[in-house]
Amino acid sequence: SKAWTLAKHFKGFPKLSDFKQQEVELPNIKDGEVLIEALFLSVDPYMRSYSSISMKEGNIMVGSQVARVVESKNSAFPVGDFVISTAGWTTHSISDGKNLQSLLCNWPEHIPKSVALGTIGMPGLTAYFGLFEVCSLKEGDTVLVNAAAGAVGSSVGQIAKIKGCKVVGCAGTDDKVAYLKQIGFDEAFNYKTVSSLEEALKKASPDGYDCYFDNVGGTFSSVALLQMKQYGRIALCGAISLYNDSAPQLGTYPVVPFILKEFRMEGFIVSRWKDKSEEALKQLMTWVVEGKLKYREQITEGFDNMPAGFLGMLKGENTGKAIIKV
Ligand code: NDP
Repeated sequence: SKAWTLAKHFKGFPKLSDFKQQEVELPNIKDGEVLIEALFLSVDPYMRSYSSISMKEGNIMVGSQVARVVESKNSAFPVGDFVISTAGWTTHSISDGKNLQSLLCNWPEHIPKSVALGTIGMPGLTAYFGLFEVCSLKEGDTVLVNAAAGAVGSSVGQIAKIKGCKVVGCAGTDDKVAYLKQIGFDEAFNYKTVSSLEEALKKASPDGYDCYFDNVGGTFSSVALLQMKQYGRIALCGAISLYNDSAPQLGTYPVVPFILKEFRMEGFIVSRWKDKSEEALKQLMTWVVEGKLKYREQITEGFDNMPAGFLGMLKGENTGKAIIKV
């Protein structure tokens, strides 16, 4: 088996030399265990912040993968089954089944199994719960989302459209903006090239925003929050503009306008709604099959290129979900 480890804790933006590939000798499987082979691996923004908080140098990088069972002494996961595993950045691994989840049953032939790491997986669930549980989304709301062409953001915008909302999305290239329009966003703009973010947000929705699904944080948020309507609901999902900072930025929020507008702002982690995940995944699958929820993937070929795929995602090279194909 091959595995990628964290060779050096990231300082600022991660570098290829922060990763090291290792060969791992796997023992024979015991009763209750399975040997799995990764087909698709996920690279996600949380890996950047998680590594600083919870990993030691030399640890295998954390992450999820879609894998096939190649040997089994566990009747719950027979040979040939497809599973989602949290084995991390590994090509092969042994599991007692606790970190494995079977793919939704009746997975349609025409949908790649890698989508279980994206729109019909954790990022799709993040969009779903962030909108319904945190933003209390209702028909007619105007929704703002950033990193909108990414895995979470593209699902946020499309789910809000399914629910009859107006959707405004921001992304970092003109191609991504064109993609957002193509998948049904009402308004979209490139936050890197607008001369004033405030003006662009006002132009896209002169009446302001009911819901703000924040994937980015930082300066973007300081501007966006001032465009919220009365009783605005804000889902703090991610802060990718800050993950590479070595120390937290201490700033002041314009508190008084927030009080007067009576905002509700809530941070969340998708795993909070574990008990509702299966039902939500089935809904996401239905929308995908009906063609109402489109997915796109940015595939990096080759396990050896996994760190490059991860850095590419952090730089914004992905439209849709960043995936590594072994
Ligand atoms: P994406 O597929 O959206 O990929 C990351 C994107 O972030 C890039 O493509 C890039 O797009 C954008 N980006 C990178 N740097 C910056 C920056 N400095 N300012 C603005 N945008 C930037 O990733 P995901 O969909 O997987 O994740 C999106 C967010 O959701 C992340 O913040 C992540 O941490 C969070 N998240 C939170 C979860 C939770 O449970 N709370 C669960 C899953 C994800 P662009 O070209 O537009 O800049």
